[in-house]
This record gives sequence, structure tokens and C-alpha cells, in this order.
Amino acid sequence: MNKELLKKEQPVVFQTLSNALKNQRLAHAYLFAGPKGSPKREMAILFAQSLVCCHRDEDGFACQECESCLRIEKEEAIDFKWIHGDKARIKKKDIVDLQSFFETTSVETGNRRIYFLDQFDTATVDASNTLLKFLEEPAPGIFAILSADEKSNVLPTIQSRCQWIQFRPASQSRMRALLEEETNPENAAMLTEAGYSTKRAKEVLSWDDFDLIREAARDYVLHWDDISTVLKMQREVFIPKTDRMTREKITLWLEWVLYFLKKDEVSLPLSKKVRIQEILIESMDLLRHPVELALFLDKIYNQIRKVVVS
Ligand SMILES: [Zn+2]
Repeated sequence: MNKELLKKEQPVVFQTLSNALKNQRLAHAYLFAGPKGSPKREMAILFAQSLVCCHRDEDGFACQECESCLRIEKEEAIDFKWIHGDKARIKKKDIVDLQSFFETTSVETGNRRIYFLDQFDTATVDASNTLLKFLEEPAPGIFAILSADEKSNVLPTIQSRCQWIQFRPASQSRMRALLEEETNPENAAMLTEAGYSTKRAKEVLSWDDFDLIREAARDYVLHWDDISTVLKMQREVFIPKTDRMTREKITLWLEWVLYFLKKDEVSLPLSKKVRIQEILIESMDLLRHPVELALFLDKIYNQIRKVVVS
């Protein structure tokens, strides 16, 4: 993610770090906290680069292009250690290894060195306690960046030794871009519009019948005046007493129907579209309460059909 986008999406974070860099008023440790999907990792890399880059811009940030910047990004720099807590829980051994790395590598050059503990909120208690000792005796020129989805998941004693930088949730366009790394643009667009979190979106995308449900919805909105469409839904998609007949899968189908309806894939007068939209939204609400799912679906098919053929 480039600097301009970070500046636009996280103006407060950008300004705070920019002031620190420009005025050289740097803390020894930072805690980047903010919901999943917010660009904590991108900002951590940029900030680390900015601590060592010789070609900084007017905001105090790194050029992102020089050799030193690229080495950090590729994790090839000797003065930067990145522990990937998003891939495996950070353990005591990770912190011990980190300490010995910083102890054994030369400080003669006086260069700044940085470590980044990504997703520190998943670290073990032992890891936290070991890190705490490290933070209590900050060595000159060593900077720590910790990231966490929830600040409160980090030990208070660690929080109090870090400067807290709060990120705001990712914008819709960013959510969509993140999801596009996982799936096709159409799926990403629908899941973003329906308000899925990235975590939940990934779960839903992993369902075996995700594509089938999407195509069933597409087929349904294109032929909903045709009675055989309903029969097909009953026989091939939401078949009573099967694994697919669940609240969450029916919700996904309703979300797809709503998405296609809004996307103008159907030619209906506006007033009818609005009425169908109301039916879909009411149905999603109803689905939060206990209902008999087969009857519930039949009611939706009927209601919509009435609107379409009226
Ligand atoms: Zn640079």
C-alpha cells in the first residue's frame, strides 16, 4: 500500500507518525491497534523504513524505493526483524531469539534497528513476559513495533510501555481490495456490500457450495417469473433436511439476490424492485429468529412472485 493511500485512509495515524519522524520525537516502542483489515502491517513496514531511509519525504516518511527500503520490505535487512504472529502464535522462543539477535549483531555503526511483532495479541503469556523485560530496558537505537487487533488483548504492562497508535476500520474500498486477493471481484464486491468482516468472508468463501448458492441466486433473479425456477430451487439448492438448509446459507443466498437486484441484472420497474428489496431485507431480519426454513423459503418465493407477475 502506498503512502498516499495510507495518508487518505488513516489520516490521524499518518499525522501522528509524521510529526514523530519529522521532529525526531520517537518512542522506543509502538503499539499499532485497530480492527482486522486496517493497514497496521503496511504502516509498520513504512514506519520501519522511515526510521532508516536516507531519502525521506516532506512528511518524514521513507522513499519506499531505495535499497534500504526494499531490503526491509523483503525482510532481507540485518537491522529489521519481523515476527509473523499472523502465521503462528508468537512464543517465548521467538522473543528470546530476537533478543540474542540484537545482542550479537554489531551496534558499532550506530544504525537504528527495528523489530516488528505482528499480531502480538495472539502471543503466549510467556512471550509477553519475556518481551516485557526487553521493553523495560530499552537499548539505544532499538525500536519496537507491535500490532494487535484489540489493544485490550495486550498485557497492560506492555501497553504502558508503548506509544499507542489507534487505527480506524478499513474503508469499504480497502475491504474490497483485501477480499480481491482471496476471490474474484464479484464475490469481493458482494461480501463487502453485505458488510462481512474479512475473517467471516474467508469462512463463507471456503464453503463448498458458495459458488452454487451464488449461481442459484443469479438464475433466480433472471427467471423469477418462471415457476420452474422455484421448483429448481427446491429440488437442487435448498433441499429440505439437507446440510445446505441452514440459516446462514439461506442468508447468503438472500444477500446474493439483493446484490443482483441492485446491480440491475434484472429488468423490472423501479417500484417492483423496491418492493422486492423490502421483502428481502424483512426476510433477513426474520431469519434471525427461529423459523421453519422450508416454509420460510416458500413464503419468500411466493411473495416475490406475486410482485413480479402483478
Ligand atoms: Zn528509502
